[in-house]
Amino acid sequence: MNEPVLTLTDLSAWPRPGTHLAVLGYPIKHSISPPMHNAALTELAKADPQFAAWRYHRFEVPPDELPAALDKLLAAGFRGLNLTVPHKVIAFDKVNTVGSAASPIGAVNTLVNEGGAWSGYNTDGYGLRRSILSELGLMFAGSDVLLLGAGGAARGAAVECLQNSVRSLRIVNRTATSRDALLHQLAPLANGIPIHGIDPAHLPSDLPAGLLVINATSVGLRPADAPPINLAALPRPSAVFDMIYNPAETALLAKARELDIPAANGLGMLVHQGARSLQHWIETVTGQPAPPIPVEVMRRAAEAVLAAP
Ligand code: NAP
Repeated sequence: MNEPVLTLTDLSAWPRPGTHLAVLGYPIKHSISPPMHNAALTELAKADPQFAAWRYHRFEVPPDELPAALDKLLAAGFRGLNLTVPHKVIAFDKVNTVGSAASPIGAVNTLVNEGGAWSGYNTDGYGLRRSILSELGLMFAGSDVLLLGAGGAARGAAVECLQNSVRSLRIVNRTATSRDALLHQLAPLANGIPIHGIDPAHLPSDLPAGLLVINATSVGLRPADAPPINLAALPRPSAVFDMIYNPAETALLAKARELDIPAANGLGMLVHQGARSLQHWIETVTGQPAPPIPVEVMRRAAEAVLAAP
């Protein structure tokens, strides 16, 4: 069962016994993080009863209330938070310290209560990389990546690509200004890796075969959306990853299936970023290495929510 949607007024019931975590968003009612994390905690409690007292909640917090929410949740003793739309960038300036993955992205999706202050991390890039490895068998190191999009998710993906030594990075985005802004931000991180900006209306004729295509646009969220790129016009890619997981098969993934190109949707990314967040929180609260995080249990819980009418 999903957690009720809470607001800041519900914090009058805190502090409560136990260890409390939450996701903040606006809106939040569609988040599948609570059932995913609570399923993991239930599973972990089978081997270690301390996790029976851990609970992951969800709070609807408008953007202008985020600073107050962070203070109140800290005062209420919350140990960890996830942030989703629209808070990932807003919170970046509101945290005490920022992890190395989050710093060049300028966005945080995970906050950890470290000694009475929030530290910010970004586990989205890890989730993407881990999911591509486990579902498509591909490592970023040495890959030629064709990244679609130049928004927040694309920025995180691009930083993860560069920090993990891709061979080359090509960024395709319809709006030249945001594409160029992203290229400018990435330049200091390139470390010799070639980065190219591409106008989707003018695909270069010399693209290499074997590209790892990653969709980080929002094209595909609506079932009627056409694919954001014509896969058949590319030299055969090695694989296609679509960050979108609802719908489970976008037009891009359907085309990849038709062309017999290995492909995966974004559910694994969501699961692995969540698993990494949970690992952070457990290690901070217990001061011990975390037990293996039950990612398959998390995935099944997420799938059950998505399959529900
Ligand atoms: P965002 O910042 O709003 O960026 C949206 C991107 O999509 C921009 O590059 C935009 O291009 C492009 N776009 C939008 N409509 C388009 C259209 N009709 N044609 C061509 N390009 C279009 O969004 P975001 O936060 O980066 O999220 C992007 C996607 O990633 C979303 O679908 C989100 O659900 C997904 N995501 C998944 C996960 C996961 O865990 N699986 C995590 C994060 C995000 P312009 O610059 O031209 O507007």
